[in-house]
Amino acid sequence: MTPSYLDIKSQFPVLTKAPAPGQPPLVYLDTAATAQKPKAVLDAMDQFYRESYGTVRRGVYRLSEKATAAYEGTRKKVAALLGAASEKEIIYTRGATDGLNLVAASYGGSQLKAGDEIILSQLEHHANIVPWQLVAEKTGAAIRVIPCDDRGVLDLEAYRALLTSGKVKIVAVGHVSNALGTINPIREMADLAHAAGAVIVVDGAQGISHMPVDVRALGADFYAFSSHKMFGPTGVGILYGRYELLEKMPPYQGGGDMIRQVTFEKTTYQNPPHRFEAGTPSIAEVVGLGAAVDWLQSVGLDKIQAHEHALLQYGTRLLSQIPGLTLIGTAPEKAGVLGFVLEGIHPHDIGTMLDMDGIAIRAGHHCAQPVMARFNVPATARASLGPYNTEADLDALAAGIRKIQGMFK
Ligand SMILES: *Cc1c(COP(=O)(O)O)cnc(C)c1O
Repeated sequence: MTPSYLDIKSQFPVLTKAPAPGQPPLVYLDTAATAQKPKAVLDAMDQFYRESYGTVRRGVYRLSEKATAAYEGTRKKVAALLGAASEKEIIYTRGATDGLNLVAASYGGSQLKAGDEIILSQLEHHANIVPWQLVAEKTGAAIRVIPCDDRGVLDLEAYRALLTSGKVKIVAVGHVSNALGTINPIREMADLAHAAGAVIVVDGAQGISHMPVDVRALGADFYAFSSHKMFGPTGVGILYGRYELLEKMPPYQGGGDMIRQVTFEKTTYQNPPHRFEAGTPSIAEVVGLGAAVDWLQSVGLDKIQAHEHALLQYGTRLLSQIPGLTLIGTAPEKAGVLGFVLEGIHPHDIGTMLDMDGIAIRAGHHCAQPVMARFNVPATARASLGPYNTEADLDALAAGIRKIQGMFK
């Protein structure tokens, strides 16, 4: 392997498990849907449940104090990972979807009025569309959309033109498109949003674990993502928000832990981030997320980015040589996503038949139906890369595709 490649597959139990007799070994190419877990994360959660488990922020006993320290420790780790000004800017959520709903309902719900505008892009995941439609319906705000070109690159001239209305309050865009892999120029888009008096909300679900992310360097006012796509457990995610914005936002959900004092006449709330964290959280999952952040830092996000970029180039070359295969998403700035269609074969058939060879890819609309509509396809097949993938995985994919084509002849 060339120096830009990592060698870390052995740290992932599911990827190194011997297959059942007669079964092919697993070739996992669906990291954009969810990432596999390294042993370090599995062990941290197991150990926490066995040795330190208790509730957080309420117990006066030692076990609870220990659990609280681990739980709040993750907040510090995430703040450092993102280059946030303070851990008070880090809110625990259930995932990217939950974080985007929180910003839309709380920030959008309190700041938008009839006639205001929200800008989205044609590349968005449904999680960064529907919450804005819900708040637009409530407030009377309107949604405007930045189109993309045939490669899947956003039209920044159109974006500039949309910003001149003087009515834009919120721009919400993905860092990286899950369907196409396009990496959007967030810094430039943030500067333009700010110059127009708007805030920018970044859906970081596909950004966070594939490249170094510094929210202040990006100019992001909000940045949302899920733990399960960054090698941590399901059920938890992060919403980063600039503190001065969080401070003026009303609660999203009510319940225990988010209040200062409750009477039937009037309830007062905690400061951020706790104001937005009602109820008993996903404690062990937060601990697992902390271990995932440590793991990412130990491998190095710059190394992961270089590894996946080299694999993307290798895979693009391989797939481009297959007759009848069209890549969907060919932006020059692209992350490790290989979306494609095959002449005469439905993406679902590709997915099902590759699975018989142990190759796991995704087939469908990828929760991005407007992207499918833009490219005039009902669905695509998508192979997506993680730091554990190798050239051999992509060789297996290409061979699998050729085999299917042979069967359909
Ligand atoms: C996966 C994904 C989401 C949603 O994440 P959940 O973990 O399902 O909440 C949002 N946006 C993008 C770009 C995604 O890839």
